[in-house]
Amino acid sequence: MDKQRRCELAEFAFRVRRNCIRMTNNGQSGHVGSMLSMADVITVLYNGILKNVSAEDPKNPNRDRFILSKGHAGCAVYATLFEKGYFPEDWLMTYYRDNGKLMGHISHHVPGVEFSTGSLGHGLPVAVGMALAGKLKKASHKVYCMMSDGDMNEGSSWEAIVFAAQQKLGNLVGIVDYNRVQALGHSENVADLEPLDQKLELFGWNCVTVDGHDLEAIENTFTSLPNNGKPTMVICRTIKARGVPWLEDTVKSHYGFIPNDRVEEAIAGCRAYADECMKGE
Ligand SMILES: [Mg+2]
Repeated sequence: MDKQRRCELAEFAFRVRRNCIRMTNNGQSGHVGSMLSMADVITVLYNGILKNVSAEDPKNPNRDRFILSKGHAGCAVYATLFEKGYFPEDWLMTYYRDNGKLMGHISHHVPGVEFSTGSLGHGLPVAVGMALAGKLKKASHKVYCMMSDGDMNEGSSWEAIVFAAQQKLGNLVGIVDYNRVQALGHSENVADLEPLDQKLELFGWNCVTVDGHDLEAIENTFTSLPNNGKPTMVICRTIKARGVPWLEDTVKSHYGFIPNDRVEEAIAGCRAYADECMKGE
């Protein structure tokens, strides 16, 4: 990846983070740590990985589908879709407000959103159904589903994992935003998933692990996924609340927003983080 490309992606991810901080603060609710965790991965997905996805033709039947199963972090998808031109800027500050355009958990009423989620464990079963439908129709698009560690604690996710392997859904790409923090604690203290990659491989999936904050590594991973007819899970090793130093890797960052008197400081943290990503040749 050349420097210009890396800088463009880092700048995009910064704008996503900045809007997530402002939107959750304005709405006085949200899951800001969960959004900041996934900002780099969703930036790469919407800037070259997802095919035929555009605001000009949002219902293109050949588009790749993206489902966010960790629907509580939907603000990060909204911030991304805004950058891609799906809706006007004045919608942003309606997030989490009464009669707002952008609902607290991700909603398919927002242009560009494929499916509403919120309760964990719902995204992957739906993605599996969509991937199976695509396979039966011999369609060329892929279905991507991003989950959290909390999602991976849900029985419904593992039912979907079993079924996807049985159906040989090579058009299905699962993504785990593996920050190892969830609502009530660090994952190893709630329901430890390790060794997650080995478990998924035993369940018949390809499994790839990547640093979920290394823009180049993320892009390289998604452009070279295995092509052997099996579903693939990409485990993105991430840090909760990445970009805001005093919140990183904390349980308290899962649910909540940054208070008024610390918003600019938090945005400055994300700015510094983006500048660091841009360094080097
Ligand atoms: Mg988590």
